[in-house]
Amino acid sequence: MKLARGRSARRACSAGVSPALCVGKKPPARCRRHGATRRAGCATMSRKLALLAGSGEKVPARILNGITIRDQIYAELKQELAALSGDGIRPGLAAVLVGENPASQIYVRSKIAACEQLGIGSWMRTPPATVTTDEMLALVAELNSRDDVDGILVQLPLPPQVDTKRVLEAVDPAKDVDGFHPVNLGRLVSGRAGLVACTPAGCMEILRRSGIPIEGADAVVVGRSDIVGKPMALLLMHASATVTICHSKTRDLPGVVRRADIVIAAIGRAAMIEADWVWPGATVIDVGINRITDRAEAQKIFANFPAKLAQFHEKGSVLVGDVHPGVAEVAGAITPVPGGVGPLTIAMLMSNTVKAARLRRGRGQTAPGSLTGVAAAKP
Ligand code: NDP
Repeated sequence: MKLARGRSARRACSAGVSPALCVGKKPPARCRRHGATRRAGCATMSRKLALLAGSGEKVPARILNGITIRDQIYAELKQELAALSGDGIRPGLAAVLVGENPASQIYVRSKIAACEQLGIGSWMRTPPATVTTDEMLALVAELNSRDDVDGILVQLPLPPQVDTKRVLEAVDPAKDVDGFHPVNLGRLVSGRAGLVACTPAGCMEILRRSGIPIEGADAVVVGRSDIVGKPMALLLMHASATVTICHSKTRDLPGVVRRADIVIAAIGRAAMIEADWVWPGATVIDVGINRITDRAEAQKIFANFPAKLAQFHEKGSVLVGDVHPGVAEVAGAITPVPGGVGPLTIAMLMSNTVKAARLRRGRGQTAPGSLTGVAAAKP
């Protein structure tokens, strides 16, 4: 039986359990987030479900505001940068932006702006779209050899004639602030401190700084890319969650997602995770960023969200995550799009740059972002 909605949600199912609680043939007897039985009462779950099942009133999820968390991290980074400055150290980030891809230009500009805001040194190198693999390798080698460059960011995607893997593997692992180098991925797998991919690291910061329990939680990561899904799953596993990784070949995806206390959506499909896929009270981290420009699609997704629809009509496009906006009425906590994971991705790039500057000078672990560090996450 699927989670019932609307009028029928007020009637008990054949197992004698309100359909809002009943997400399978046999409804679970315990709150899987807190371990309490339903009768004994789990405050978060009871409140959400009583309201869902009883009056039919919708309880909005707690919004996990990425901008607020980013600002906390920036405040911590500023303190660390001041301490480093006292020792004559100014961390620096070099960004390589190939060609004229407008989305890449926006991303790189916002990363450079963040460096300027924090007082981190920044350089932008802009090879033409016709650049060759050898030219890119020469550029990376030059940046590797510069002592004032602590972090190297190669904005993806690279043009098709460039061997992306060779270029990324040429970056000195000590300067690999994107965390894409196999050495850093290996460190993550084996639970050693290193530079961790920014978006998954940002998701961990959101969970930890919002007080979401991770240890023992059932976490479902939808997406298995090298830059989001895989490192995300590893970070959650190191933080002692029980992790399931889903992808395009997963059978009964809604059923798997429904078992999760924590859902991470990193799919690249607009509004794909629907409200009746999500366990009431679950935490949902929406990594997806999808720009909707089609009127019919906007009307379908935002049928019950007039403000978003009005935004679409005014601007001709609107952003949506991989999670349907209706999930906010079922989840216990959710990240918004925009303003959720996105700001944390840039914050973690800044944190990684400062961390790289310190580690390259033999100065050990850092405070900001250290919650994300695998070593810190292990008991
Ligand atoms: P990829 O395209 O590299 O990976 C997408 C993953 O989703 C794949 O593992 C794919 O499975 C899986 N997938 C695709 N379709 C389905 C489906 N129908 N059912 C189940 N799984 C499916 O994307 P990324 O990981 O790079 O990015 C994911 C999303 O996150 C995008 O929307 C991107 O824009 C966003 N993003 C946001 C960032 C931020 O800062 N907020 C940063 C980075 C990304 P399979 O492997 O089988 O093909």
